[in-house]
Parts: sequence; C-alpha cells; structure tokens
Amino acid sequence: EPILAGRGVVKRYGEVVALAGVDISIRPGEVIAIVGPSGSGKSTLLHVLAGILPADDGEVFLGTQAITRLTETERSKLRRTAFGFVFQSGMLVAELTAEENVALPLLLAGAPREKGIAAAREWLVRLGLGGLAGRRPGEVSGGQLQRMAIARALAHRPRVIFADEPTGALDTRTGEETITALLTVAQETNAAVVIVTHDESVARRAQRVIEMRDGRIAVRAAV
Ligand code: ADP
Ligand code: ADP
Repeated sequence: EPILAGRGVVKRYGEVVALAGVDISIRPGEVIAIVGPSGSGKSTLLHVLAGILPADDGEVFLGTQAITRLTETERSKLRRTAFGFVFQSGMLVAELTAEENVALPLLLAGAPREKGIAAAREWLVRLGLGGLAGRRPGEVSGGQLQRMAIARALAHRPRVIFADEPTGALDTRTGEETITALLTVAQETNAAVVIVTHDESVARRAQRVIEMRDGRIAVRAAV
C-alpha cells in the first residue's frame, strides 16, 4: 500500500511538456532519489507530488486520497500536516530563532506555544543543534542551517519529506552528515523521503533511484 503515488501525471508550461505522464509509487518509510539532467522534470515532479503545483492531467494520491482533486486551501492544509519540506531556499524565517523556526509548523497546526517550543528543542538536540536553539538562521554554518531546516521539516511528523537538492550548497563531508541526519530521523518516524539531487553520493543512500528524462521516468541500471 503506497503512501504516495502519481498516476499518469502530466504537467505543461505553455508548449513545454515538463511531465509527460509519470507513474510513481512510494511506500511508507521508503527513501527515493530522483536524478536526471537539468530540465528533465525533477523539480516539477517533486512540486506536483507535494501538492505545490497542480497537475494538468493524472492523479496524485496520498494514501487513498486524491490530492489532485482538492482545492488549493485543502492542499495547503495537507502540506502543513502530512508533508515536510527541505528546500534550498530554506523556508526558515530570518527573524526567528532556531527553536521558533522549528516550532512554527507545530504552532501553525494549532499546538500551544510552550508545547511547540519544547518539542522544537528536542528536535534540535536530536540533530546535534541543542546549543543553537537561540540562534537565528544567519548566525549558523551552512550544515547547521540544513539541519535546522530538517528539524523544521520533521517536527510535525510528516508522512512524506520532500528534499530538493538538500546538499547543493554544502561541502562533501557536511553533505554526508546532513543526509545521514535526515535519513536517521526520517527512519525513526517512518516518514518516506523523496530527494531531488545531482549528487551521486546522495543518490547512493536511497533505496530506489528514479531517473527522469524529458518528463518521463527512464529505467536506470542498478548502481
Ligand atoms: P529539472 O528539475 O529536472 O531541472 P524542471 O522540472 O525544473 O526540471 O523543468 C522541466 C521543464 O519545464 C524544463 O524544460 C523547464 O525549462 C520547464 N519549466 C520549469 N518551470 C517552468 C516555469 N515556471 N515556466 C516555464 N517552463 C518551466
Ligand atoms: P527550488 O529549490 O526547486 O528552486 P523552491 O524552494 O524555490 O524550489 O520552491 C519552488 C516553489 O515552490 C516556490 O515558488 C515556493 O514558494 C514553492 N513552495 C515551496 N515550498 C512550499 C510549500 N510548503 N508550500 C507552498 N509552496 C511552496
């Protein structure tokens, strides 16, 4: 029983067919890497699966629920509750401290402030950032920033985590540590992880690698 599935997903930008009918099935707790050349549709696939972009045709299912049939308001609620995002653009709020940033999804989901902050502190400790709870995003290193984003993505225990080039701005060792942190905490909560990456060392950590070519999934030889 997949946690997330795309069936015949089509997405066009004017004349450009970014997704030409994609079928994909992701099991609970599974780690999937999406690779492929620039412009092959990786980001578009991630955004459609995550309910950020509407599909032009086909369906995306979260469990048995067709999220492609929801209104934008309903999808927005679903993104805040069922999904977690680790994007390069961060989505961390510069003016807030680490613990406030990590607590934010919990507070938006209705948790009382004290409870949200306490939970956020625990997540920061788990990611080795226990001493940085009061720092703002501009006051930590790149690797710490990515772990902060991971804590934020996981704090509300999403069922699927979407990561777009999570190691893109990091050196090799920090990138490895970041991926290890992400996969460890995802496994602890049985969250599925969908990672778009150019980084072979990241792709090797996935249970399954999907290669995109011209808006389709191309079969890829095992690495
Ligand atoms: P990738 O993530 O593999 O680089 P994308 O999903 O970003 O690929 O893009 C797939 C195709 O869709 C490309 O041809 C790209 O130029 C096009 N595209 C992506 N976003 C837009 C957009 N907002 N407007 C027009 N074309 C877009
Ligand atoms: P990329 O790393 O591919 O450039 P971005 O982080 O810039 O991706 O996000 C791509 C688009 O998706 C942006 O327009 C951003 O505002 C939107 N987006 C990202 N995360 C969310 C979310 N959780 N809810 C709604 N929109 C989002």
